[in-house]
Amino acid sequence: QTPPYQVTDPATGEVTETFPYATDAEVEQALSAATEAFAAWKRRPVAERAAIVKRVAELFTERAADLAALITKEMGKRPAQAQGEAEFCTAIFDYYADNGPALLADRPLPGHDAARVEYLPVGAVLGVMPWNYPYYQVARFAAPALVVGNTVIVKHAENCPTSALAIAQIMKDAGVPEGVYTNIFATHEQVADMIADPRLRGVSLTGSERAGTVVAAQAGRNLKKVVLELGGSDPYIILDTPDVEDAAETAWGTRMENVGQACNSNKRMIVMDSVYDDFVAALVKRAASMTPRPAGDDSDDTYSPMVSRKAAENLLAQVQDAVSKGATLHVGGTLGGGNGAYFAPAVLTGVTPDMRAYKEELFGPVAVVYKVSSDDEAVNLANVVDFGLGGAVWSADEDRATRVAEQLEVGMANVNTPAGEGADLPFGGTKRSGFGRELGPLGIDEFVNKRLFYVQ
Ligand code: NDP
Repeated sequence: QTPPYQVTDPATGEVTETFPYATDAEVEQALSAATEAFAAWKRRPVAERAAIVKRVAELFTERAADLAALITKEMGKRPAQAQGEAEFCTAIFDYYADNGPALLADRPLPGHDAARVEYLPVGAVLGVMPWNYPYYQVARFAAPALVVGNTVIVKHAENCPTSALAIAQIMKDAGVPEGVYTNIFATHEQVADMIADPRLRGVSLTGSERAGTVVAAQAGRNLKKVVLELGGSDPYIILDTPDVEDAAETAWGTRMENVGQACNSNKRMIVMDSVYDDFVAALVKRAASMTPRPAGDDSDDTYSPMVSRKAAENLLAQVQDAVSKGATLHVGGTLGGGNGAYFAPAVLTGVTPDMRAYKEELFGPVAVVYKVSSDDEAVNLANVVDFGLGGAVWSADEDRATRVAEQLEVGMANVNTPAGEGADLPFGGTKRSGFGRELGPLGIDEFVNKRLFYVQ
């Protein structure tokens, strides 16, 4: 596994900073510190832990501009979106600081005056996190864990070492005690070692199916609880629309968020035949208007580089596979020169089951559009993939859209909105998109011991 943790400018491919892997002694130190710190952290009143987490929330906003600059360098995110991500972390840490104590209160059991359920921390938990939202992903995992009273070790993606360190610094400056939050530049082998170690009590991974299967197998072998937030190929069904230009603009904006590198992006647009031609035409026009984003620019009709040249090449191979088997590439779908990761936003139609693009996730700026002629056909196509993260259904007739949305095999179904997202709304999938939930009231339930306490 080489190279080590490093910052690579996605616009040029130039490596600007390198950090060595942790030594095995540092991994051991992280585990023992997390275990020792747990003893005191779990005993502190939940209100004290929440107060510290509240300070973490403040620091994300106080430092938002600096935090944003780091991820723009690491993974190319547009400055405004990068700052928005840092500020959203404030909302997440606030949510658990404000609501955690009530969510963790003992629960009575109807009919049993003598019994209650307590919500107790489990110990040290490991987060294996991805690069696409370097702050938000960690916040979803760490905020509830800290309020519960667990201690947290984070192994971030190798291409976001500076944002990983910035988060650790925020924790320290907010007063999170040593050992309660530890960032570690671990190798995959060291992750496996930590999962096998009896001192580690659980692991949460956000990332690809490939990584999810590896880490889940390790967790299973060692009887550790695991939460998986994996990929998606979310359907976005347009049954009808009074304004096709507006519908296309909304769909395009959602697809292009983070240059298409979002797990719950609307990767498959499933459009009723009555509006299909106009919808595709509007998308193609919009895609054609986009130009590569010069450094520092933040306008809507520019696109950032993808995370890496390798990711862009993978996406290109998926698109070329489709085109070679008869799909139509209307616009875009080309790589910029040099070692940068600029991928011209694309619109692809005519995708059929023999193509990789039919069932695989396209993790970048490609809008795939399908034509359907009935609501049932839309539902069948929506559910044909192995993923089940989110989905959206649009219609002027809300009842009709609701009936279709109710049939989606997903963890998050949306009607007449691209996605309902917020610190207080549970996020997660079904099928091969993973299991477990983050955010909202369900997000604090994962790494807790729900202890029955019975006094006779
Ligand atoms: P990866 O799965 O490669 O990386 C995610 C994290 O997992 C990184 O920290 C990575 O470390 C680590 N990792 C990978 N393999 C192993 C292993 N064998 N053992 C231990 N750790 C491992 O993700 P990608 O870079 O491919 O990220 C994009 C993918 O993540 C997409 O498929 C996307 O849909 C999914 N995703 C899902 C989200 C969700 O919430 N459902 C959100 C965001 C992304 P390292 O960097 O060292 O390889």
